[in-house]
Amino acid sequence: MKMIIYRCLSVLLVINMIVIVYFLTLANVRAAWICIALIPAILLLQIFIVRCNKCGCSPGLRLLAIWTLLMDFELYFADTLLLRKCPKCGSNLKENR
Ligand SMILES: [Zn+2]
Repeated sequence: MKMIIYRCLSVLLVINMIVIVYFLTLANVRAAWICIALIPAILLLQIFIVRCNKCGCSPGLRLLAIWTLLMDFELYFADTLLLRKCPKCGSNLKENR
């Protein structure tokens, strides 16, 4: 269940980006800023929602750290959608509840 929420948040993040561009084309800067403020909120939720039962690390934080360093948002998005195993110990995240 948590993994489903995690993936939904990733999709929401991309939709949010589209909404920001939409508001900017309408020159609605205030609405665009509200959406921009939502991005860190969604990212933080993603970090805390998924946690490995075995080693206790949070895969969301690892993914975010790696892809922020490499400045590749598309791959971060792809990784969150395809995340099944803990990147540290390799245990299946679906077993986590
Ligand atoms: Zn682990």
